[in-house]
Amino acid sequence: MIEIKDNILYFDGCNTVELAKQYGTPLYVMSETTIVEKCTEIRETFLNRYERTRAAYASKAFLTLSMCKIIEREGLCMDVVSGGELYTAMKANFPAEKIEFNGNNKSVEELELAIDYNIGRIIVDGLDELSLIEEICKEKGKKANILYRITPGVKSDSHDYIVTGKKDSKFGIPLDDEVVFPAVEQAINSPYVNFMGFHFHVGSQLHNNESHLKALDTALKLIKDTIEKYKFVTPELNIGGGFGIKYTEEDNKKPYAYFLDPMMEKIEEFSKELNIARPEIVIEPGRSIVGEAGITLYTVGTIKDIKGIRKYVSVDGGMTDNIRPALYQAKYDGVAANKAGERKSDVVTISGKCCESGDILIKDAHVAELERGDIFAIFSTGAYNYSMASNYNKNPIPAVVLVKDGKSEVIVKRQSYDHMIENEIIPQSLM
Ligand code: PLP
Repeated sequence: MIEIKDNILYFDGCNTVELAKQYGTPLYVMSETTIVEKCTEIRETFLNRYERTRAAYASKAFLTLSMCKIIEREGLCMDVVSGGELYTAMKANFPAEKIEFNGNNKSVEELELAIDYNIGRIIVDGLDELSLIEEICKEKGKKANILYRITPGVKSDSHDYIVTGKKDSKFGIPLDDEVVFPAVEQAINSPYVNFMGFHFHVGSQLHNNESHLKALDTALKLIKDTIEKYKFVTPELNIGGGFGIKYTEEDNKKPYAYFLDPMMEKIEEFSKELNIARPEIVIEPGRSIVGEAGITLYTVGTIKDIKGIRKYVSVDGGMTDNIRPALYQAKYDGVAANKAGERKSDVVTISGKCCESGDILIKDAHVAELERGDIFAIFSTGAYNYSMASNYNKNPIPAVVLVKDGKSEVIVKRQSYDHMIENEIIPQSLM
C-alpha cells in the first residue's frame, strides 16, 4: 500500500502531499484496500477454514459510520464497548444480531439500549451485571444471550496498560471457585438469559501466542468443570483479540494463523476427548484490522536544534491525535512525504504542538533534512489514534479520509472551533 514515486509518498494509490493540500493537516488517512486485505486474511485463514466461527471487529480501535459499512460488507461481526459505539453501529444499520457488547462497567442505560436493539451477545464482565441484565430482561419480556468474561490469570508480553488477562485486572471475573461457579450456576438457571459460554482477552499488540494458549487451557478447564458440575455444555467460546501489528522494524508481526491454528487444534482435541460438539469460536481483532491501514499526515512547523542535545521538529498535531506514545511509550516510524526518496541523513525528535513535554510522537527518528512546510507521514496510526483523539489545548480533531486505488473521500469532517464549543453554556450569572 505504501509506495514512493518521484520522491513522493503514495498510500493506497494516493499522492499523500496532494491529500495534505486538499484536506489540510493533521489528517488521518485510512486505506480501504488494507482493511479489506486484513478481513480477507481472517476469512481465508479462520472463518472459511473452520466451521462455526465468527470474527467480531473490536470497534474501539477505529469506529465511524463508514467503518461499520465496510465491516458489514466484509462479513464480520462487531464488538462494541459503550453506548456510543453501539449507537454508531445502530445508526449505520449494522445488523443487531452481529453485535457483541463488552465493557467492565456497562450502565443500565447502555444495557437497555443493547437489549432494546436485540444485539447478539452481551459479554458480562462482573457479577452484578448479570442481575442488572436479568432485571431489564424481566421488565421488557426479553431474553439476552450472554457470555462471561473471565480473568484467565495470565500475564502477556506487552505494555502493562494493554495487558488485560492477569488476575490483578479490572476486567473479567476472577476464577476463584467460590466466585465463578455461583455466577455460572445463576446464568445457567436464569429464565432471562441464554448462557452461551466464556470469553477471554489477554492483551493487545502481542507477537507471541503463549498467553493466548495458556488462557485457552484455563478456559477449557472451566468448560470441563461446568460440564461436570452442571451437566451443561457451553456452546461458545470467545478468545478475544490482541494480534500484534508492525509499527517499527522491532515488531515481529505474525499472521493470524500463528495464533489461531494451535488454539483451534487444542479446542478440537479437547472436544473430541470430552465427546462434545466443538464450541463455536469467536475472535475479536481490532488493531490488526485497522492499525496498518492508517497513516497520519502532518505539516512541519518550528524546528529547534539544541546543539549537542536534540533537534526537535514540531508538527501541527501530537498527543491529541495520537496519545499512544505519551500513554505507553508506543513507538512509530515516519517519513517526509514530500522527500520520501531522500537519504535519511538526520536524526530528530518529532514532537507535537501540545503544552506537555511528553507530547513526543517519535524519538530519534531517522529522516531527510526537514524544513518548515514539509509534510511528515507517520505509519500504522489506524488503530487507537482517531478513536482516542482529544481536544486538549482545544485542538480540533482531524478529518479522516478513506483512500482506495488512488481515490479519496472524507469520512469524518475536520472538527471546527465552533464544533468544539457547541455544547458549552455560559450561565446567566456570568453574563
Ligand atoms: N476484545 C477486548 C475485550 C478488548 O479489550 C480489546 C482491546 O482492548 C480487543 C478485543 C481488541 O484488541 P486488539 O485491538 O489488540 O485486537
